[in-house]
Amino acid sequence: MKIAVLTSGGDAPGMNAAIRAVVRAGEVYGHEIFGVKDGYQGMIDDIMIPLNHQSVSGMLSLGGTFLGTSRAPEFLKEEVRQKAVDNLKNRGIEALIAIGGDGTYRGAMDLAKMGLKTIGLPGTIDNDIAGTDFTIGFHTAVETIVDAIDKLRDTSTSHQRCSIVEVMGRHCGDLALFAGICGGAEFIITPENPMNKEEIISKLKQHKKEGRRHAIIVITEKILNVYEFADEITQKSGFASRATVLGYIQRGGSPCPEDRILGSRMGAYAVELLNDGVYGVCVGVRDERMVHLPFSNVVGQSRPKNELYKLVKKVS
Ligand code: ADP
Repeated sequence: MKIAVLTSGGDAPGMNAAIRAVVRAGEVYGHEIFGVKDGYQGMIDDIMIPLNHQSVSGMLSLGGTFLGTSRAPEFLKEEVRQKAVDNLKNRGIEALIAIGGDGTYRGAMDLAKMGLKTIGLPGTIDNDIAGTDFTIGFHTAVETIVDAIDKLRDTSTSHQRCSIVEVMGRHCGDLALFAGICGGAEFIITPENPMNKEEIISKLKQHKKEGRRHAIIVITEKILNVYEFADEITQKSGFASRATVLGYIQRGGSPCPEDRILGSRMGAYAVELLNDGVYGVCVGVRDERMVHLPFSNVVGQSRPKNELYKLVKKVS
């Protein structure tokens, strides 16, 4: 079989491990693999390269995605998607493995309806995909955030300050939750765990009275303006506060072992699904095991509130 692989939407560390595994497992089973450049845009523009064992050598430790990624708004038009499907068919490619987030899955689901044998792999640092415990890139991003929190704590302690750290995640608080626990944050504010500003300010007043030398607040993006919140805390609690928005640093870096393993497992599993004639599904990991679900069960679905929130109450 000729199989195409692409990465789309926001990049994530470990995407290269997944592409590599698709290529290597594909070769084991006698398939021909093509890498589509820059996500769905490369499908529309017919820019694809044959990939073999050698072309993915040395990719495991590289961050980002060597195939490139993009946002291709044109792909929402059916006639544009049809052109992209025709481009694959003209090359004799009958299957596509699409690595990305919820938007990428929506595109892949549409392609599956148009007759392409499509498999989705969850590649996003946000961990905001239903049907999987973890997405490729999440663990590396947590490491990056924890490293930043540890450093911010040093300077916060020296100056007796409260540090507000804004992290990515869109509508999912997992990055803030996991990194907040690892970094010993006093407060973790996420879409799943909203917190009352007045309550935080009153607790910080108390901390100040007790002579505590630092406080860390980790918050998911898009909840409030962290710079204004820092000023408000400073004025109302007397605990001098500074906000740090970590931004795109969270997307970069060499993938950690968990993401290399997850990307490798998921890439190989996607090829095995195609071998078994299974497609129109996306791959996940549940309780350490590879699983797959129809796109319609996953796209647009939210994940249940994480069990770790119970731990936050005990250790923060
Ligand atoms: P992510 O995959 O990280 O969530 P985006 O939401 O930007 O990133 O989606 C990546 C790409 O997937 C978009 O640029 C677009 O090409 C495609 N896409 C997103 N939503 C749809 C949709 N509803 N139908 C078809 N394609 C879509």
